[in-house]
Amino acid sequence: MAAVLVDGAVLLCTHGGKGAVVPSQTVLKVGGKPALLKSDKVGPDGFAGCTNQKPCQSIQQYAAGLSTVLSVHGTPVVLSSAKGATDQDTFRVLSAGQTALDSK
Ligand SMILES: [Zn+2]
Repeated sequence: MAAVLVDGAVLLCTHGGKGAVVPSQTVLKVGGKPALLKSDKVGPDGFAGCTNQKPCQSIQQYAAGLSTVLSVHGTPVVLSSAKGATDQDTFRVLSAGQTALDSK
């Protein structure tokens, strides 16, 4: 089980940059905050503070951490165990944005 990521969650890239994902749905919320889905994108600031020569800007793919039971319109929600590739390197989850709802 891992926490469901919601609006306000922080992703951390290999180079210390922090990325905020923009929610795309309002069907599933935790504590009033929309859950984040596999298809949601990092906002226009990319991974802010990334020290790579070419800073990480986006999520390319997930290697782990997508829920096998929770989805919205067929798209899995993202969990605090998520990790994967940015356009430059890799990322993991720094904080989920909530602690009330876990899933697998
Ligand atoms: Zn980076």
